Amino acid sequence: MSGSNGGQTGRVSIIGLGPGDACYLTPAAQAALDEATDLIGYFPYVARVPERNGLTRHASDNRVELDRSRHALELAAGGAHVAVVSGGDPGVFAMAAALFEALDNGPDHWRALPITVEPGITAMLAAAAKAGAPLGGDFCAISLSDNLKPWALVARRLEAALSADFAIALYNPISKARPHQLDDAFTLARAHRAPQTPVLLARAVGRTDESLRIVPLSEVRGAMADMSTLVLIGASTTRLIEKPDGTAWVYTPRFHAGLEGRPAEDGGK
Ligand code: SAH
Repeated sequence: MSGSNGGQTGRVSIIGLGPGDACYLTPAAQAALDEATDLIGYFPYVARVPERNGLTRHASDNRVELDRSRHALELAAGGAHVAVVSGGDPGVFAMAAALFEALDNGPDHWRALPITVEPGITAMLAAAAKAGAPLGGDFCAISLSDNLKPWALVARRLEAALSADFAIALYNPISKARPHQLDDAFTLARAHRAPQTPVLLARAVGRTDESLRIVPLSEVRGAMADMSTLVLIGASTTRLIEKPDGTAWVYTPRFHAGLEGRPAEDGGK
């Protein structure tokens, strides 16, 4: 049916596959995958969806998100039921925003298409759950990639989040093309946080090669992470609970006494 128009109503489902194993896929996401005639996404994510009759796969390389989105909308306008897949959640540094960018700048008739977004478990939440509860207080998420924004803005957001004492999840921490930024981020963090602040390096969470490390801020290095790693820098209150086997839980208590050095007129109220 894909590509045919005769009055067929096509649609787009933008689907989060979760961090890895199929057990993290929501039933709603699975149902949307089951109804798709066409599957679009970055090839490792497309590869996670089992082949079946009636499903045409359109895997593409990384960094072609807008082309991929236009392709999805064109196919849907022709009557296809298109599933656009992302790892984790599709709204977190992923395909949902790219698709809406394409819609925003595309032909008017695309706007009548039914579009649904099926959430998935994002890397930050999967990583936090494995480690304990490091996001138990206020937190934020920052992508360290400067492909789509200048590094000066990334650095400003890091500074703001560090000075306001958020726990900070770093997506896209490092790549061959961007080898230095994670170390720059750690250097900024050391100016705001104690040396013992726990840093969680959660790699390939929910996959067979999953690994988790907790390293004090004073010792953490960019080379300990790769593109498949979610880095989580603790807040000042983030703590470890040692286990008898030498490993530890990491958690951030729900309570927070306040910020040192906040304006006097704000103090004590
Ligand atoms: N939409 C995805 C994020 C895409 S950005 C999500 O919601 O998870 C890609 C970055 O996400 C990677 O560089 C890494 O920092 C992180 N990431 C994605 N999957 C991961 C996993 N299984 N384990 C650890 N980090 C992961």
